[in-house]
Amino acid sequence: MNTITIESKKKCKCANKKSMGQSCSNCSRYKMVFNLRSDHAGLKVIGKGGGFVNPAIWCFLRQNKRTMEKVFAEMLGRVTKHPKLASLYFGSNNIRLYDRKTDQFLEKSS
Ligand SMILES: [Zn+2]
Repeated sequence: MNTITIESKKKCKCANKKSMGQSCSNCSRYKMVFNLRSDHAGLKVIGKGGGFVNPAIWCFLRQNKRTMEKVFAEMLGRVTKHPKLASLYFGSNNIRLYDRKTDQFLEKSS
């Protein structure tokens, strides 16, 4: 039982200091990108370079050690039930999950 207490107090290693139940754009291992259809281009976000890019979300830090397949299924389950994220999901041609450690990705049509 003590492990649960310790786990919940753990933070990521960067300045964002996110807990394990949150995502961190620096420390989360998996990144989900919504490749929006042209009729949903209005949902794009401003990227680091200043231009519009496809929106992305990052996995919870506690998911970092799980397999890509498992995290993809878990994140898709969450996204389709989330009011705002579901509109990204259904407005996309496909959704990709990138493993930032290996640069591999999984893809699913929405
Ligand atoms: Zn971090």
